[in-house]
Amino acid sequence: MDIVKGNMGWIEVVCGPMFSGKSEELIRRLRRAEIARQRVQIFKPAIDKRYAESEIVSHSDLRIPADIVSGARDVLDKMDPRTEVVGIDEAQFLGAELVEVAQKLADMGKRVIIAGLDTDFLGRPFEPVPQLMTVAEEVTKLLAICVRCGNPAKHTQRLVASDELIVVGAHGTYEARCRRCFEPPPAGQPAASKQKNRS
Ligand code: ADP
Ligand code: ZN
Repeated sequence: MDIVKGNMGWIEVVCGPMFSGKSEELIRRLRRAEIARQRVQIFKPAIDKRYAESEIVSHSDLRIPADIVSGARDVLDKMDPRTEVVGIDEAQFLGAELVEVAQKLADMGKRVIIAGLDTDFLGRPFEPVPQLMTVAEEVTKLLAICVRCGNPAKHTQRLVASDELIVVGAHGTYEARCRRCFEPPPAGQPAASKQKNRS
């Protein structure tokens, strides 16, 4: 953000497919806020148990401590009024209410930085990140590298057969693919909205 006067809050969204560097970028911004001696609170959803419980861990093993929350409302409940910067990872698991919660926090004067997937395993918009992008002051869309051909990758390719919207992946469950190499599951496999944890 350029020049912000007074204690105005705002929303930054960092989106893209898996492996695009969203967690790295979130951690980088939060570290810089800490270096500036700002009061920072960091959250991640309980569903992402691939790595350490109370840390955000990037695929390149950058780490930062984080509070586990069960949903967007939990973020509000745990908010310290003195907090200046709020970091949230894996926004796609926090529900539609995150849009309202993020705006509430920004209206309170906080800088809200949210990272999450913008598309699902079929390449469709993955709420609430698309809605967060519309209410944000700043959007950063990152790309990964296609593991098939080396081109910029905007897709998260699911490698295991499942029609569930959420399958939390350990290694080998997902990979980054470009638009040419992306292979959405065949039609007739409707995406259910039930959650399943297969990590
Ligand atoms: P995200 O939060 O978007 O899933 P991370 O920040 O956790 O991404 O990890 C990004 C890191 O993953 C990269 O810096 C790189 O070291 C590693 N990586 C592994 N596979 C890929 C890939 N296909 N494209 C880009 N980076 C990759
Ligand atoms: Zn490709």
